[in-house]
Amino acid sequence: MAFVCVITDHNYASLDPEERVLRPLGIRIVVADSKDPERRRAALAQADAVLSQLVPIDAGVIREMPRCLAIVRYGVGFDSVDVAAATDAGICVANVPDYGTQEVALHALTLLLVVHRRIAHYDVEVRRGGWPRGPEVRPPIHRLSGRTLGIIGLGRIGKALAGYAAPLGLHVLAYDPYVTRGAAMNAGAVLVDYQTLLRQSDFVSCHTPLNEATRHLLGEPELRLMKRDAIVVNTSRGPVVDTIALAAALRDGRLGGAGLDVFEDEPLPADHPLRSTANTILTPHVAWYSEEAQETLKRSAAEEVARVARGEWPRSVVNPEVRSKARLRARA
Ligand code: NAD
Repeated sequence: MAFVCVITDHNYASLDPEERVLRPLGIRIVVADSKDPERRRAALAQADAVLSQLVPIDAGVIREMPRCLAIVRYGVGFDSVDVAAATDAGICVANVPDYGTQEVALHALTLLLVVHRRIAHYDVEVRRGGWPRGPEVRPPIHRLSGRTLGIIGLGRIGKALAGYAAPLGLHVLAYDPYVTRGAAMNAGAVLVDYQTLLRQSDFVSCHTPLNEATRHLLGEPELRLMKRDAIVVNTSRGPVVDTIALAAALRDGRLGGAGLDVFEDEPLPADHPLRSTANTILTPHVAWYSEEAQETLKRSAAEEVARVARGEWPRSVVNPEVRSKARLRARA
């Protein structure tokens, strides 16, 4: 019987990269209709492995996959998967950790620079027929070099951002309880405690995973510790920042601006206060995107499924504790 890879949901224009990896191995690709529970259930019932993009894979969905050996998430973040439930069911969960590190780090830097330089404000004024003098902008713009960037979460993307920031003359601070001082220094950052980072940074950029410890890591009390003209950047996961508290801080002039790619609810609700806050740039969860990153993501995710079909462990297992009871009895 052919090995079946069920794609729970996707918004890609084609599945060519997946087909190129999986078809030669005789693996059958089935795209589940995630909007119709009956058809989704029927598809998941035959899944030997699952590729998942956006729909939550919770305990209920996991119960619908009696044969499944592995769930592979299209992306770095795996907060959409109930990893504990998957582990209980003996299913390994894998992600694709490194397909778009440069894209996300550059997107974060771009948001920072665009907000810092008030590009949106000047653009609107010029289109309106205005020609404002630079110094009229409030609060005033200060030279970038010599300012301090605080990076929350010094992993792949945080380190890449630190590497881009240093040549611009930014001092880089980092807060990450799982990173050593030496590793931070190698990335060009000084490791500090969280409060120091918040108090001293002119720019704060979030790069942690989303989990119970990082939900609202940047909330009302933390925002109050920040400098009055500081800028918040978030390209990680929306709920890492309390966006209602952030909007209130921007509205009350307690912060200088924000550049956000991710939101607590996506798409951003029509009545969300961030839609009307000053000096705020919003992008629709696209920090990861380049044609090359997309191709790498899709191919790498399919390669994880191919490994499972060959009886091997995926390259990037996020629940290694599953090994002792995994349905996948891998050779490695
Ligand atoms: P990573 O796993 O390499 O790095 C995450 C870092 O966060 C690690 O160093 C970890 O030690 C640190 N961390 C964990 N808990 C922390 C805490 N409580 N406080 C401070 N630091 C903590 O991940 P990455 O590849 O750098 O990705 C970072 C984030 O970017 C993830 O949330 C991911 O989902 C997100 N992401 C977003 C997009 C996008 O398009 N916007 C694309 C890719 C990744």
